[in-house]
Amino acid sequence: MRIGAHVDPTDPLAEAAARDAEAVQFFLADPQGWKAPKPREDAERLRAADVDLYVHAPYVINVATLNNRIRIPSRKLLLGHAAAAAAVGARGLIVHGGHVNAGDDLAVGFDNWRKTFAYAADSGGFPLPILIENTAGGENACARHLDALARLWDALGDYEVGFCLDTCHAHAGGEELLGLVDRVKAITGRIDLIHANNSKGTFNSGQDRHDNLTGGTIDPELVVAVIRAAGAPVIVETPGGVEGQAADIAFLRGQLGAAA
Ligand SMILES: [Zn+2]
Repeated sequence: MRIGAHVDPTDPLAEAAARDAEAVQFFLADPQGWKAPKPREDAERLRAADVDLYVHAPYVINVATLNNRIRIPSRKLLLGHAAAAAAVGARGLIVHGGHVNAGDDLAVGFDNWRKTFAYAADSGGFPLPILIENTAGGENACARHLDALARLWDALGDYEVGFCLDTCHAHAGGEELLGLVDRVKAITGRIDLIHANNSKGTFNSGQDRHDNLTGGTIDPELVVAVIRAAGAPVIVETPGGVEGQAADIAFLRGQLGAAA
């Protein structure tokens, strides 16, 4: 099982080495901005590395919204990030499920997701797996609660879509971690990546506040159980820099190895 961390994008391979990580996730542009990613000078080195790479799309992307001024640039930006992520050999591009505004019809949001994949298909399709991630907050989210996720997957039925399960988001979003992998897989058929995070916010608080694995409001054994059940690669998106994340990775290796 490949385990790694979300790291600073300047030199992801050095960050991986510093954490003894087998995988890294990073941004290719400002996560709060709309700028298209620039080609990376180290693309060849990244492609050749034996560290597994994942790219996280900017948080501003919301392809579900009924607001044209957000949805249209979101589609474009997602496609741009997909091309840039493929150019560095990433195994997947993670993007949040998004939401519609209060009073808007969530069904239109799901259909906007379908249109996003149709838009990509017009130019040959996404060049790498798109992993839609569950989110923690909001009352109109496409991928917070599993009933919404099921409707999203129904809408995307014609397309190849991956899923990234974040343990903090699930817990804070109000989904019990016990048995969650089976409930998700019954909908998506797959889990491509686990974001292994503890949560500063309590169950169903809607707060997206990550904590180190042995801190927070989630029993760490439950996070380990989710990883074991999913059998997917793991990225920790936890605080504490090199030290904090290296400790989280070592904790997971110890726990997962112990029961093997
Ligand atoms: Zn995450």
